[in-house]
Amino acid sequence: MQSRWNDADARRAVQEWGPDHGELLALRIYSSRLIGAEPDLVLHGGGNTSLKAPYRTLLGDHLECLYVKGSGSSLDRVGPRDFPALDLAYLRRLETLPSLTDEEMVNQLRTHLFDATAPNPSVEALLHAFLPHRFVDHSHADAVLALTNQPDGEKLVREALGEQVIVLPYIMPGFPLAKAVAEAARERPSARSIVLLKHGLFTFGADARESYERHVELVDACERFAEARSRSRGAISIAPAQAVPAAELAARAAPVLRGLLAEPGLDPEAPPRRMILDWRASPEALAFCASAAAAALAERGPLTPDHVIRTKAFPLFVEDPAWDDAICLRKQLERAVTSYRAAYDAYFEEQVHSKGVSRQKLDSAPRVVLMPGAGALCFGKTKRDAAVAADITEHTLRVKALAEAIGRYEALSLSDLFDMEYWSLEQAKLGRAAELPLERQVVLVTGGAGAIGIGVGDVCAGAGAHVVLADLDEIRVKAAAEKLIRSHGPGRAVGFAMDVTDEASVRRAFDAACLAYGGVDVVVANAGVAVVAPIADLSVSDVRRVADVNYLGVLLTLREAARIFRMQGTGGNVVVNASKNVFAPGKDFGAYSASKAAAHQIGKVAAIELAPLGVRVNLINADAVFAEGETPSGLWQTVGPDRARSRGLPVEALPDFYRDRSLLRTRVSARHVGNAVVFFASNQTPTTGATLPVDGGIVEAFPR
Ligand SMILES: [Zn+2]
Repeated sequence: MQSRWNDADARRAVQEWGPDHGELLALRIYSSRLIGAEPDLVLHGGGNTSLKAPYRTLLGDHLECLYVKGSGSSLDRVGPRDFPALDLAYLRRLETLPSLTDEEMVNQLRTHLFDATAPNPSVEALLHAFLPHRFVDHSHADAVLALTNQPDGEKLVREALGEQVIVLPYIMPGFPLAKAVAEAARERPSARSIVLLKHGLFTFGADARESYERHVELVDACERFAEARSRSRGAISIAPAQAVPAAELAARAAPVLRGLLAEPGLDPEAPPRRMILDWRASPEALAFCASAAAAALAERGPLTPDHVIRTKAFPLFVEDPAWDDAICLRKQLERAVTSYRAAYDAYFEEQVHSKGVSRQKLDSAPRVVLMPGAGALCFGKTKRDAAVAADITEHTLRVKALAEAIGRYEALSLSDLFDMEYWSLEQAKLGRAAELPLERQVVLVTGGAGAIGIGVGDVCAGAGAHVVLADLDEIRVKAAAEKLIRSHGPGRAVGFAMDVTDEASVRRAFDAACLAYGGVDVVVANAGVAVVAPIADLSVSDVRRVADVNYLGVLLTLREAARIFRMQGTGGNVVVNASKNVFAPGKDFGAYSASKAAAHQIGKVAAIELAPLGVRVNLINADAVFAEGETPSGLWQTVGPDRARSRGLPVEALPDFYRDRSLLRTRVSARHVGNAVVFFASNQTPTTGATLPVDGGIVEAFPR
């Protein structure tokens, strides 16, 4: 590892933040970002940094202040707001207390902020406060952990870094750790760094550069030491060649696993609480999973305690997956997940019993599943959570392999892991946030690049869903997904090419959805085309094209949906976007109306056939939707002029014509269709095989 310090960048940081926040804080932000930019040092909110500097109050008093990273922010993106300022003189006096509960510690930090609206300071704030040095940098560096997570960790650290560092045993973060670190630093005033076994590294300095560069220098020394040791002993590094690509294997396992990991809904009517997947199959991950040591290493805990909240203490390792036999594979995964859950429950019971505490048990499902051939399948409540678990997993596999090459990887005890996983500060956050109606659900929309498709995707994403848009044109559908990501955040939508009339293409898109999110829960069969002509003038090719997309396309979409729903075993919803024309046909629109009537009918048959799987199939009969935002309806662009002509109207008069003929005098929008999808997909009523008109009220189209 090399220093990323650059004087010109440091000067720019001082220019940007110095005038409002002072040069010291500007440099604190700059060097914190340098640490954050190095995934081998910190991942996703891990690590923290601080600065001690004067603070001028409104009354002109100058007080010594601690600026420490707030909890929840990531070092790579920190700004001035992410360093809440605290009354340092007061915090230092807390060290004399014999003990301090975690809740009281948080309260003391919160009540000694200079800005009442600042984020909560890091839970390691007191540790920073009790150290005398101006700049303090803390990371959970991979190379340091490869040495500390060993039975003889202290000896290895000494061999790598010499006597200049203070080495402390593992103590859970909080007041006792802050006191222990302060005491050790007082005994060795010349020391400029502390290694906490099975946790990470602290370095100090009088200025930003000194503290940062000392950090990098020590991590570099650990890296070199580990490399030299592992070279002489051989490391896990080469993935075996495989006949079937990892993606294909992962697609066979992901929906089954996702179903097994789902928790029951909060009430019997509610959809199950499912997980979202992030799948990783880097050569390193595949090599690890295929190695002889993988099963045993999986049973040893995480690199550093704060990972336990993201990945649970242990991954589930599936030995020798039965890839060639879907039934065997399912049984094998069922057994594996059941025994994982039982082991988790036993661990929980044993810990609360032996500690004599009461805690609210978290769900017992694994977050990380390692499968030889397929790699790491990582899960979370959202794609973002799953990706955090996946990033941590990639680093964990690498460090475990490296640690084994140096000696023997050893993690914290179950008791220490439990203390972190069930920390009262973490428990306090449980069950607070109300979930949105489609949270943890994956919605796949065919015709996803069109006006209705984007509108439905947008409403579903707003209701908490992860959205897969599928459409004929790959570039357009990816652009549509990007649009959803801009409104709803990274990871919330993907776009795949799909030709609904082509079996192989439909299957590919569903498999791609399974690799992207783990499976599919709500399928909106929305792709449609139209042609305007009286029966006398209809060409066979036009009739076939319309029937292929509007009828066969819905049927193939239903068939693939049923395949995935069966693999998941957690029910699901299908919404067929039929048409107001099904009940109220119009002249010159025969090919379209008949194909939509067929789609409507196949939807009802699907409602009968899929009910035993807990899948509901409902239908929406919408009247004309002309556009969604700046996306015009492709269908109406094509057929609008002809429809206008057959009604004896100018084309621009059509939207008003459709509005004025409805009872409610309403223009139907894609969002209205989206709202209907959210209604059905959130299982609010026990309804299947039903048709919901979304047409502003048209008497002749009333369902009957
Ligand atoms: Zn830490």
